[in-house]
Amino acid sequence: MSDKRIIDDFRDEYRFLSNFYVHPLEYKGLTYHSAEAAFQAQKCATEEEKVKYTLVKNPVVVKAMGKKEPGFPANWDEISYGIMEDILKAKFSVPELKEKLLATGDAELIEGNRWHDNKWGNCTCERCANKEGLNWLGQILTEIRNNLKNEE
Ligand SMILES: [Zn+2]
Repeated sequence: MSDKRIIDDFRDEYRFLSNFYVHPLEYKGLTYHSAEAAFQAQKCATEEEKVKYTLVKNPVVVKAMGKKEPGFPANWDEISYGIMEDILKAKFSVPELKEKLLATGDAELIEGNRWHDNKWGNCTCERCANKEGLNWLGQILTEIRNNLKNEE
């Protein structure tokens, strides 16, 4: 029997694993309030357009802005995994966040949710019961944690 710990709720003490966690993050020369803001900003074609994403603290607002981004790259689905990987590497290079991520040890990381996101996480609603979440966010976090462990 496996006694592997599973963290599948990125709230409360594990809020820092969420892209909605508000904490200064530097990415490609700009400082954002959250990983979500940095991520949505990458949909912009120019550096100038990205700046507005550094000004908004509420990640819910930032996500809504990104949905309406006119310069949205056509291949966004293909490139978004790599972009998120880059952004989260930047996020977890901050010493206190790095420490918190390492403290999750070998726990399996799954972005459990109820908002039907089976790409970045795994939705546990009845409607999605038969769908297996790809859990891209959990995968990226695990990969970064492994890299940080190897560096230590
Ligand atoms: Zn669902």
